[in-house]
Amino acid sequence: KYYNVVEDMKGKIRVFCRIRPVSQTETAQGGAIVVDKIDDYTVSVETPRGLREFQFDQVFSAETSQEDLFHDTNRLIQSAIDGYNVCIFAYGQTGSGKTFTMVGDKEQKNPGLMPRSFNAIFDIIQENSTKFSFKVSAYMLELYNDRLQDLFVSLAGEAHAQPQSHGQARRVEIKRNRKGVVFAQGAETKEASSAQELYALFQQACANRHISATKMNVESSRSHLIVGIMVESRNLTNGSVSTGKLSLVDLAGSERAAKTGAKDHQLKEANSINKSLSALGDVISSLSAEMPHVPYRNNKLTQVMQDSLGGNAKTLMIVNISPSECNLDETLTSLL
Ligand code: ADP
Ligand code: MG
Repeated sequence: KYYNVVEDMKGKIRVFCRIRPVSQTETAQGGAIVVDKIDDYTVSVETPRGLREFQFDQVFSAETSQEDLFHDTNRLIQSAIDGYNVCIFAYGQTGSGKTFTMVGDKEQKNPGLMPRSFNAIFDIIQENSTKFSFKVSAYMLELYNDRLQDLFVSLAGEAHAQPQSHGQARRVEIKRNRKGVVFAQGAETKEASSAQELYALFQQACANRHISATKMNVESSRSHLIVGIMVESRNLTNGSVSTGKLSLVDLAGSERAAKTGAKDHQLKEANSINKSLSALGDVISSLSAEMPHVPYRNNKLTQVMQDSLGGNAKTLMIVNISPSECNLDETLTSLL
């Protein structure tokens, strides 16, 4: 039954909710569990003012495996190969499971949507290789404090550093071409001819992200990770070409402003994250309400995601939440 939900979602936004398991810290604190999956579409939250329910296109409980979650998004990978722009992103407070959902755990024993998508793309390509020829390329970017950085350009790697970069990561700017198509100027795209090659590019990007975060002394969960995979397919019979794109985004944590005692750079960071997330929220609500004007231009995050939100694009937002009482406020903020 659920397949129909994702199947015909052109121009539509689907919202999933994933409740993560209780963490050891939460268990140690002895906090109550206040979030529950009632049915496949409903989450209930016990608040001090009573029980509240929230509706989603699909709800995943703490027991949902990475396989199961991916199973329910696989159709979207097919769509990207069919020529659609598809965007999947995870939203929620820090520690709610966004990176687990999008990337996987640190040891990659439980790979998330990104590595699974890489495999799925090339599996689908393989299945269709008698009728189509394919070209897969990718860019990988980080957005931190309103600065877009190309993660293929190493901050540390003298070997990769661009001459014009003077040891700094190359800046990427969002531009529009004459047809109004948005593109990331200055972002390098690299071709991959197998899932392994694509995964290697991803690992390189993650390593660069880590280096840049360490250099600036910030946590990588305070930046947005944006992976764009372009799939060009040429019909071997009639020569027609179509290009689809899969955007996979691991957003920075949604928690409101820094706690008291925050240093200057933390305030700036929190401000920048809040601005970009609320710009994204505004775009999502305008699209959901089918409003004529969609405020993409308000922020770099929405600009870089623009071609994968609205229009003919298919968008999937996964709201990650913690089940515990100690995170209640943030959980409600994420759900509202
Ligand atoms: P975020 O990216 O939202 O800050 P993480 O994905 O880093 O959060 O998750 C925080 C911790 O919880 C990590 O140790 C992660 O492995 C674990 N975790 C999150 N979601 C799950 C899940 N569904 N199953 C098991 N562990 C999870
Ligand atoms: Mg994270």
